[in-house]
Amino acid sequence: MPSGEYDPDAAEARWQRRWVDDETFAYPEETADPDTAFAIDTPPPTVSGNLHWGHVYGSILQDVVARFHRMNGRDVLYPFGYDDNGIASERLTERELDIRHQDFERREFQRKCREVCREYEADFTEKMQGMGLSIDWNNTYRTISPEVQRVSQLSFVDLYDEGREYREQAPAIWCPECETAISQVETEDDEQDSHFHDIEFTVAGSGEGFTVSTTRPELLPACVAVFVHPDDDENQHLVGGEATIPLFGHDVPIIADDRVDMETGSGIVMCCTFGDQTDIEWYQAHDLDLRVAIDESGHLTDVAGPYEGMHSSEAREAIVSDLEDEGALLDRRAITHTVNVHERCGVGVEFLVTEQWYIRVLDKREEYLQAGREMDWFPEKMFTRYEHWVEGLQWDWLISRQRSSGIPFPVWYCADCDREIIAAKDDLPVDPLSDDPPVDACPECGHEEFVPEDDVLDTWATSSLTPLINAGWDWDEAAGEFTMDRPEIYPMDVRPQGHDIISFWLFHTVIKCYEHTGEVPFESTMINGMVLDENREKMSKSKGNVVDPDAVMEQFPVDAARFWAAGSSIGDDLPYQEKGLRAGEKLIRKLWNASKLVESLAPEPYPEQPDELAELDRWLLAELDRELERLTERLERREFSKARDGLRTFFWGTFCDDYLEIAKQREDASARYTLRTAHRRFLKLFAPLLAHVTEEIWHDEYADGAADGASGETPAAAESIHLADWPDPLGLEADHDAGELAMAVVGALRKFKSDRQLPLNAALDVVEVYGDVRGFEDDVTGVMHVEDLRVHPDAEAPVETVTTGIDLEYATVGPAYGGDVPDIEAAIEAGEYELVDGELHAAGHELAPEEFTVETDRRYRGDGELLEADDAAVIVRVDAE
Ligand SMILES: [Zn+2]
Ligand SMILES: [Zn+2]
Repeated sequence: MPSGEYDPDAAEARWQRRWVDDETFAYPEETADPDTAFAIDTPPPTVSGNLHWGHVYGSILQDVVARFHRMNGRDVLYPFGYDDNGIASERLTERELDIRHQDFERREFQRKCREVCREYEADFTEKMQGMGLSIDWNNTYRTISPEVQRVSQLSFVDLYDEGREYREQAPAIWCPECETAISQVETEDDEQDSHFHDIEFTVAGSGEGFTVSTTRPELLPACVAVFVHPDDDENQHLVGGEATIPLFGHDVPIIADDRVDMETGSGIVMCCTFGDQTDIEWYQAHDLDLRVAIDESGHLTDVAGPYEGMHSSEAREAIVSDLEDEGALLDRRAITHTVNVHERCGVGVEFLVTEQWYIRVLDKREEYLQAGREMDWFPEKMFTRYEHWVEGLQWDWLISRQRSSGIPFPVWYCADCDREIIAAKDDLPVDPLSDDPPVDACPECGHEEFVPEDDVLDTWATSSLTPLINAGWDWDEAAGEFTMDRPEIYPMDVRPQGHDIISFWLFHTVIKCYEHTGEVPFESTMINGMVLDENREKMSKSKGNVVDPDAVMEQFPVDAARFWAAGSSIGDDLPYQEKGLRAGEKLIRKLWNASKLVESLAPEPYPEQPDELAELDRWLLAELDRELERLTERLERREFSKARDGLRTFFWGTFCDDYLEIAKQREDASARYTLRTAHRRFLKLFAPLLAHVTEEIWHDEYADGAADGASGETPAAAESIHLADWPDPLGLEADHDAGELAMAVVGALRKFKSDRQLPLNAALDVVEVYGDVRGFEDDVTGVMHVEDLRVHPDAEAPVETVTTGIDLEYATVGPAYGGDVPDIEAAIEAGEYELVDGELHAAGHELAPEEFTVETDRRYRGDGELLEADDAAVIVRVDAE
């Protein structure tokens, strides 16, 4: 190894470049064995310039999994993709070029999107490589590429053929800001300040007034009915009549329906087309009129008369003010309520009747729940989120979007009879705006003109196909069937992702892949949490607590960030803590320095195994076996923090602090063999976590060494430690407890020497150990230069326990004994007390055991000095001082 300190800046960059250039992590296509293939369905990020913590945290955990399974003999497919066909890319392009998509022809705008995205993607790829991820960079995809467009359109056609898709003119969830229909999963609840308005309506004819309460008076022109609960005795007489809408003057029926919430407002509600989900139910159940007052961009329509053209928020204020002038506004009070908003832009959604494409979902909820149960969930509790989502579904999956950019629907309509014309699978990908339909005339009516579908597919309709994209799913026209280039990777082994997109990405992937293949797409899921700030609060610009991941990755070694990221239980949120990164740095240094020490003590990287191992060496290797087994199991169960902490503690405490200190004083074949065997194993066990420093040391020490017969390693074949085999247990037997105690005894003797400033090789005349270190006598005497070691495995140590004082628990004693406390203290001070059956008798009081603690000391009155080693007493005598 080179002299001096480890230089992570240079070493990490060097290895990252080399891994990419050498294609170290390329998926070995030729194997194609489903039993050895191990595939990770990496989340394709949407494109933006910066790393965010989700990328750093999530990717590192995926990478640990990839490296672990690769070393365990699996052919790992760790691909990477960009999700660049959605609204995010469209918005990025608009922002970057300062343009609006509406001003461009679709293909022209798409071209701009692709250009802008390509730049950002190149940047981002560099950053991902800078984290040292063991991604196979030959296996990358972009969801906007023709290959993926083909997969996406094939999926559409297949589901259409299977009767799982339909087009319907119906109320759909609509974002007036983004001007597109969206699906239920893209909405979220937001607490917003608003007002509750009590508005006076009148009964047509009689002129009797009644009150309707609403948060959305701007929907008055869209009112099509008024509802009363059938149990509402007070207002029952209104049912069957008509109500006149204030300001707008049109009459609507008054109807009884048990969906009315009698607890809110006056108990009489208006139904508008549409204010919410219940309005839609009423509209359908009672066959009501359609009065559309709000258009695609959130402005009022001609139905609103004088308010036409106003934005809904502006119209609200104007209508309230006019109601007030007319005396129809009875009350207005401020409230905070839950508003359903578009998660991307935060704007409240509307419901517009439009023609949209849907994937049928609601009829198969039970099957999709069952599919979710078939996967192993890490952590298990995340399945409940999936379950709740599926159970709460109210809409089929709306997949058409009124956007410029994205993957087109492979669909035309007959200009005369509206018959759907679907592209031939072999022709895909197509863009109906520029390509011709597969027929010359409508099969229904013979008409020869067609209207292209100009909507694009929901981006999730494509990203939900990543397992099939990775497996090379395609349509074989000659065979008339779907095929896969890499059937061995499907179903994929792991779907890693954030918990925030279980309802989006995971659920949609299950639907799509299950429908196309009849199989669940994953063996397991691995759900990571979010990165929080140091105080476990969400990072946000407004709070000013955002830590920039790019800056952190600049400042600390990547391996330190990897160490920190692995300090989490899977699924849990992880606070960003600099001390976590610093602990990683320290471990890297420790590993480096320990490696140098091993090299100096055992210069030969692969020493011969001696005929007989010293008991201590046998013990260390047996302990390492135990740690290896624990670690393997934890990594298989994705228990990252337990895996990390267990290995670190064993390496730092047992190997470095105890064993290495002893080994420094030995010069025998058994020690040399053990040092090297343990060292190689430690490097491998740390490799998935500390990917760079282990590679650096491995390369220096072992990459072109001779074979290691004992553990079956073939180092010559393993140029990179990451392609080396994960160790198998050596299977050595040793007395665990005796070895542990022997270590403690040596540690106590070493401390004894250093406390007395004796050289480490100073002779100790007699050492008596009152504990079982049998089998390790030679190790103790040899290392610590003990002339006469006497082991008493069963005998009681000649040590007495004396009481040296009493500590009162003032929190309880104070209130209980008040003014007598000084007397009790004085009695204790003077030694005038008794301990009787655990109680303290002093100054006329009897104190209960929880009111005090007894301080004791162990004393030895014979020759020599008493040392403590774990639970055992050790007595040392040095005669010639
Ligand atoms: Zn929006
Ligand atoms: Zn037709």
